[in-house]
Amino acid sequence: MTLETLQKKKILVTGGAGFIGSHLCERLLADGADVLCVDNFFTGQKTNVAHLLGNPNFEIQRHDVTFPLYVEVDEIYNLACPASPVHYQHDPVQTTKTSVHGAINMLGLAKRVGAKIFQASTSEVYGDPNVHPQPEEYWGNVNPIGFRSCYDEGKRCAETLFFDYHRQHGTKIKVARIFNTYGPNMHPNDGRVVSNFIVQALMGTDITIYGDGQQTRSFCFVSDLVEGFVRLMGTGDEVTGPINLGNPGEFTMIELAQAVIRLTGSRSQLVHKPLPSDDPRQRKPDIAKAQSILGWEPRVQLEQGLTATIAYFDKVLSNSGIARR
Ligand code: NAD
Ligand code: UDP
Ligand code: UDP
Repeated sequence: MTLETLQKKKILVTGGAGFIGSHLCERLLADGADVLCVDNFFTGQKTNVAHLLGNPNFEIQRHDVTFPLYVEVDEIYNLACPASPVHYQHDPVQTTKTSVHGAINMLGLAKRVGAKIFQASTSEVYGDPNVHPQPEEYWGNVNPIGFRSCYDEGKRCAETLFFDYHRQHGTKIKVARIFNTYGPNMHPNDGRVVSNFIVQALMGTDITIYGDGQQTRSFCFVSDLVEGFVRLMGTGDEVTGPINLGNPGEFTMIELAQAVIRLTGSRSQLVHKPLPSDDPRQRKPDIAKAQSILGWEPRVQLEQGLTATIAYFDKVLSNSGIARR
């Protein structure tokens, strides 16, 4: 073993074969780390990380984080959890277990080896927010017994566990609250709005607007988000978060659909479908903390990010031989 190998930072990424996780693995390898990607492939794809397999500093392990994991690492990014409402509601009990048991196991691991641990929390901790935009101090408006609760309450409980491990055991924690993020490596059947609209536009099928389409979201491009992750992990032990990471540009779903139609040149029509229960009316991050503590703000505007994401889906659909437009 060379001295260089011994000095490399060993980083565990749970959920590393997923949409965001795969970009994070790529970034950490480029920064010179030794990366262990752990994933149960529930929503992740091997194709997202296939190009990294030849890299001697990359390793992948099939594992479910609801079971204990014994490895030796310096840092942990805990991303394992389905993020699309369609997928996290498919097996809601498993979703809560993934957030809660997964957090306990990864925190137990961090405690044993003295690793810094990052939690991919979510803007869903604010629920259907009555405060707009949402600052970190806002405690949220979450239904504890609805269809989204397995995700929202699971993530809230994970935050509780992170802060209790920090207070009780001195574990070094970094909690990021991620707002809607999109980009290449999303699964074509992911079910979230950006991938749905782009795939529908490219295939020339109807674009499905849930409800009246006046609800808003703020969309962050994945490269901006990953930069925020790395900056947060790089802060001193006094910085724990929670810290919002997202793009404050706010759009209605109708505006998003119109942008996708314009950028694809599609002839798809907008059709309205029922609004899922507890669907938040509005969402926009207050990123003052990320700006002042991390010196971070998003750089990629919606149109630019959508163009890159459209090119990705165009390729995926072409390769799968699906007829388009
Ligand atoms: P994704 O579904 O593409 O990735 C999640 C990954 O976790 C997948 O590879 C999946 O197979 C894996 N996974 C799920 N359950 C697991 C388990 N029990 N054990 C091991 N692996 C498991 O979603 P994403 O958008 O990449 O989200 C990554 C993380 O970021 C999630 O924790 C999500 O809650 C959080 N987040 C994402 C967004 C967003 O807009 N993309 C917003 C807020 C929070
Ligand atoms: N754990 C793990 N990997 C480790 C250390 C712990 O997966 O390297 C799991 C372990 O199975 C335990 C959980 O993390 O259930 C919490 O660990 P902790 O030490 O906090 O609590 P305890 O072992 O007392 O339950
Ligand atoms: N949505 C939509 N059409 C779709 C998928 C989603 O209009 O095909 C809406 C959804 O009702 C929500 C918003 O788009 O208001 C964002 O949904 P997504 O599932 O991407 O993420 P959420 O922020 O709700 O977790």
